[in-house]
Amino acid sequence: MKKILIIGAGTAGTMMAVHLSRKLNRKEWSITILDKDENHYYQPGYLFIPFGIYTKQDVIRKGAKYIPAGVEYLLAQADQIIAEQNRVKLKDGREIAYDILIIATGTNIHPEETQGMVENGWRENIFDIYTADGADALSKKLPGFKGGKIAIHVVEMPIKCPVAPLEIAFMIDWFFTNKGMRKDVAIDFVTPMAGAFSKPATAKVMGHLLKERGINLVTDFGTERVEYGKLVSYDKGTVDYDLLITTPTNMGDALMARSGLGDDLNYVPTDKHTLQAKAKDNIFAHLGKMSMKFVYWNILLKGIPVPGIASKMGRMGKIIPQTA
Ligand SMILES: Cc1cc2nc3c(=O)[nH]c(=O)nc-3n(C[C@H](O)[C@H](O)[C@H](O)COP(=O)(O)OP(=O)(O)OC[C@H]3O[C@@H](n4cnc5c(N)ncnc54)[C@H](O)[C@@H]3O)c2cc1C
Repeated sequence: MKKILIIGAGTAGTMMAVHLSRKLNRKEWSITILDKDENHYYQPGYLFIPFGIYTKQDVIRKGAKYIPAGVEYLLAQADQIIAEQNRVKLKDGREIAYDILIIATGTNIHPEETQGMVENGWRENIFDIYTADGADALSKKLPGFKGGKIAIHVVEMPIKCPVAPLEIAFMIDWFFTNKGMRKDVAIDFVTPMAGAFSKPATAKVMGHLLKERGINLVTDFGTERVEYGKLVSYDKGTVDYDLLITTPTNMGDALMARSGLGDDLNYVPTDKHTLQAKAKDNIFAHLGKMSMKFVYWNILLKGIPVPGIASKMGRMGKIIPQTA
């Protein structure tokens, strides 16, 4: 019996478990999925929490609910991947051996990576919409906002769901327009990129829409530090704010660093066509929603990845590698 181990029961890990459990010969394969958190978070829903459309509870479900029958689900934290021995050590001391490992641990925000961000107003006048707690805290702040400067801000790329900061900017515009307060609220969209979005065509459209809504676009802003009520860039530019909605540095789980598998941001270097870890070809990492499909076919077709098929499917445009 061969074993597939999936670390992380978020969107990617859960979908892999569902698809593989339907297609694999279960007499030949066993599937185990583990997560350190018993809750599954519906992250797109975070965008609606600040405006009272959703509550925090609306986006949280028990993760086990989505794991198909026949797949072993463990509530456990992966502490270290010992790649050369095909084993994962858990924080509770247990160890799990695998034939194929799927790392689906996602990406998280790290405000402490930016000087002054945590010290100078975190969850007081600085909020994020990349966590349920951040969105919930913002929902308590926004109704009492009496007017002033709001900055929607991205520290650095890459980030998960790069369109989310733009979405929140438009929703802030909508919220204060509906309240009849829009003239009292100045909105800046502050990005390290040269335009509103990474892809030029989208950047053009989004730039136009921001302008149309009276949202000021501040580009090429490399954030050096956060002072109280002020963003400061490396080239000494500044943006003042009364309320900052920021997307802090995104990083993968520290498991990668502990396992010697990650880069500076705890992402696993992978083959861009197959998403196989460069360190070991029976480890797959950074499964996005589309790229998952390919990893899944690779496992189904051969039991192990086949680069030839990978490049063929890549040319057919079926692989879209994502950061998370
Ligand atoms: C504000 C916002 C809006 C979004 N909007 C959209 C949208 O409109 N459409 C869309 O398609 N996507 C959207 N996304 C992106 C989407 O939510 C993510 O791409 C998706 O959740 C990523 O899934 P994942 O499984 O990779 O990571 P996650 O869902 O974050 O899951 C990772 C899991 O791994 C677990 N884990 C981490 N480390 C360990 C460890 N060491 N041991 C055990 N378990 C571990 C975590 O507990 C977590 O459950 C949005 C995201 C945000 C934040």
